[in-house]
Amino acid sequence: MSLNPFAIRCKNVTKRYGSVLAVDQVDLSVAPGEFLGLLGPSGCGKTTFLRLIAGFEVPETGTIDIGEVRVVGPKRWVLPEKRRVGMVFQDYALFPHMTVEKNVSYGVQKRSDQRERVSNALQLVGLEGVRKRMPNELSGGQQQRVALARALAPEPDVILLDEPFSNLDVALRARIRAETREILDRAGATVIFVTHDQEEALSLADRVAVMWDGRIAQVGKPEELYHYPASREVAEFVGGANFLNASVTEGHAQCALGRIAVNGDAQGGDLELMFRPEDVALTEAPDGQSHVVAASFYGHDSTVMVRLDSGEHIQVRLLGAPLPPGTRVHCQLTTQPRTFARSQ
Ligand code: ATP
Repeated sequence: MSLNPFAIRCKNVTKRYGSVLAVDQVDLSVAPGEFLGLLGPSGCGKTTFLRLIAGFEVPETGTIDIGEVRVVGPKRWVLPEKRRVGMVFQDYALFPHMTVEKNVSYGVQKRSDQRERVSNALQLVGLEGVRKRMPNELSGGQQQRVALARALAPEPDVILLDEPFSNLDVALRARIRAETREILDRAGATVIFVTHDQEEALSLADRVAVMWDGRIAQVGKPEELYHYPASREVAEFVGGANFLNASVTEGHAQCALGRIAVNGDAQGGDLELMFRPEDVALTEAPDGQSHVVAASFYGHDSTVMVRLDSGEHIQVRLLGAPLPPGTRVHCQLTTQPRTFARSQ
């Protein structure tokens, strides 16, 4: 096993397209065997960043190391096919006129152990039974696994997945996600997968990097990101987030929910409190400080929109049936909220 603590190490990587700064001074390292989710809104630079690692784009600045090898740097450029990186594209990019087997053998054509590698890759993804079929004779989930097998056949150190589940219907998606993770764990690959779906990133990744306007806004374990977002943007992007205006002095905040303890290190002044919809206990109370204005039932839980007497709205998650609109309620926070500078 390699003693190198990084399978991928990017430093100060910048890429422009004309006046668009697609990737802006990105530092990001991934440990061997790690499954990293790259999460961000459309256009924030996720695909460009993967393409820089794979060698399909040339950055203006920065260095990229894959394992012990510097693949990008000043006077340094390793060709994509020499990088030991496999990429799975959003649309799978299978060759429609080739069988499953031929698709998978594409990246190992000139090797003496080609047959063995193709068989191993097909076995890993559980598709030996359909090796002679054409891509259009497969389900969406099977096509995705062919793309995965094709990327895995050369036994790369790193696998990059660009929105790998977005073409699958919702009913299939959860199962295919779990299967993909299992296959890649078995292959021992280091993985970066791109998604704009926070639930997918949080549920699947060992760590998540949140990308915003070409920059990495925060990197952390899913629980860290969810409970301790570093900024308002991250808080909003990784889950439902409520914000309330507050005046903070000496470890306490005065807000529409009353006087609330906050982190003693929080800066004083006019701030915003952030808490999640499940961090609120709701009780029916005729003299409560708020009332329900909308309710949605999702089966496993419900959410209600509550209007506080201050005029602010918060979303509250409830286990079980929602309270109907018009119900007078009392809201109480069950965890300490985060504090952020007030947005303009
Ligand atoms: P999505 O989730 O929609 O795929 P993304 O986060 O992957 O988005 P990128 O595709 O990396 O974002 O694009 C980042 C920015 O760079 C966008 O503003 C995009 O319009 C721009 N861009 C990407 N590729 C090119 C290109 N080949 N030429 C010019 N601009 C580009």
